Amino acid sequence: MERLTNKVCDILAEKESEGMFQGELWKKLKLTNQIGSRLALKLERIGFITREKILEKNRWTYKLILKKTPISTQSIENSPCLVCPVEQKCSLEGEISPRNCQFIEDWVIAEMKKPAKAK
Ligand code: SF4
Repeated sequence: MERLTNKVCDILAEKESEGMFQGELWKKLKLTNQIGSRLALKLERIGFITREKILEKNRWTYKLILKKTPISTQSIENSPCLVCPVEQKCSLEGEISPRNCQFIEDWVIAEMKKPAKAK
């Protein structure tokens, strides 16, 4: 279920605030309407998406819009802290700190330069 949730969020993230009709999304993920609708309700309940009721070709349907992305380990992939030789001495208030860390700065800048899909 978590993989499916991530897939839904990835697809909706690409659509940004425009969102996507749920039928279109279920077709893309090869889900039945029943399973898809249950998933959409669950994602709305936990605050990941909003469902907007819309009349489309004389039928009521929902447009799904991503509210927030679940945290994935991908966001810390290649983080310099994972292999940092001075990690033991690093603290928020210390001399060695993420607040003034050049490794972190270089990593964030490199990540921001990557195309969105490759992150
Ligand atoms: S913030 Fe910088 S110094 Fe601290 S652990 Fe991460 S890479 Fe190392």
